[in-house]
Amino acid sequence: MKKHNFAAGPSILSPYTVENTAKGILDLDQSGLSVMEISHRSKEFIAIMDEARKLFAELLEIPEGYHVLFLQGGASLQFCMVPYNLLSKKAAYLDTGSWASKAIKEGKFFGQVDVVASSKDAGYSYIPKDYTIPGDADYFHITTNNTIFGTEIREDMDAPVPLVADMSSDIFSRPMDVSKYALIYGGAQKNLAPAGLTFVIIKDDMVGRVDRAIPTMLNYKTHIENESMFNTPPVVAVYAALFTLRWYKQQGGLKAMHRLNMEKAAILYDEIERNRLFVSNVKNEEDRSIMNVTFVMNEEYKDKEADFLSFATGRGMSGIKGHRSVGGFRASIYNAMPRSSVEALIDTMKEFEKQV
Ligand SMILES: *Cc1c(COP(=O)(O)O)cnc(C)c1O
Repeated sequence: MKKHNFAAGPSILSPYTVENTAKGILDLDQSGLSVMEISHRSKEFIAIMDEARKLFAELLEIPEGYHVLFLQGGASLQFCMVPYNLLSKKAAYLDTGSWASKAIKEGKFFGQVDVVASSKDAGYSYIPKDYTIPGDADYFHITTNNTIFGTEIREDMDAPVPLVADMSSDIFSRPMDVSKYALIYGGAQKNLAPAGLTFVIIKDDMVGRVDRAIPTMLNYKTHIENESMFNTPPVVAVYAALFTLRWYKQQGGLKAMHRLNMEKAAILYDEIERNRLFVSNVKNEEDRSIMNVTFVMNEEYKDKEADFLSFATGRGMSGIKGHRSVGGFRASIYNAMPRSSVEALIDTMKEFEKQV
């Protein structure tokens, strides 16, 4: 049976990405070698890296004065690398979820951290809006999409200090204004590639901001100077990313991706509103994520949760169990998720409602 993959990460990739990566793993462009077996310094791999970097910048319309880096260690290592390289005295953070709070924890190793606002008391079910960013902070850190809780900052904000964003789970979901950010990072395993690759978009003037000595591998300068080839990059993940980026371009770029994402999210949230069994845990519509749709069973039907999960699983829905800290359900509907799979989930919700 065809599975509809709603997993939060690692997660669905386009068939174009998976099939072409598989081909290159068996035989890279009829070279008789696997992409896994060739030198990262070979002209074949350098061409892959260059095209991936170029397409990455083209799709996001990254202006002059920025570098795109392909690193390792996940978004989690960026929680540490960002303050290592940028925090001299004080940084400001917005606490919108588990990932944000993990970033805050790492920031504290390097200096003072001001948490300007937090939605923790309300189970991270909204995006705080009423806060002041201290003008003397070295940077302001946000998590644009809260993968676990299903909230999202869907617009590029203006900040009085350099803006740093964890965009692990919503990069490439919409056209954006990169010029508003000093640094953007994320793990690739949600909207780009298999796990193992970390992307960083860094404004050149963010380098050399602190007086402390920074170990070579953790210094952004190293990776800018060596074009992400200081050490061996995750070649297969970069190769897969190239196909995802080509596919985005073929689909009409980020405007087209965004239109589709908005449609998919709208029909699913509409069904959650309409269906008497379910309720969204994010009340403010403007805070609802278009990538991770979280929902729970209405109070009076709480005992049906396990039943719905097995009903949905039986109909090919994979990965819809909510994160353990939220419960209920989470449908991750990343770029590669076709509208037909979202419709299949909606049909499942309707069918189940009829039975209850
Ligand atoms: C998945 C995720 C992370 C963690 O990424 P790793 O690559 O596993 O370190 C961090 N932030 C957000 C928003 C995420 O969705």
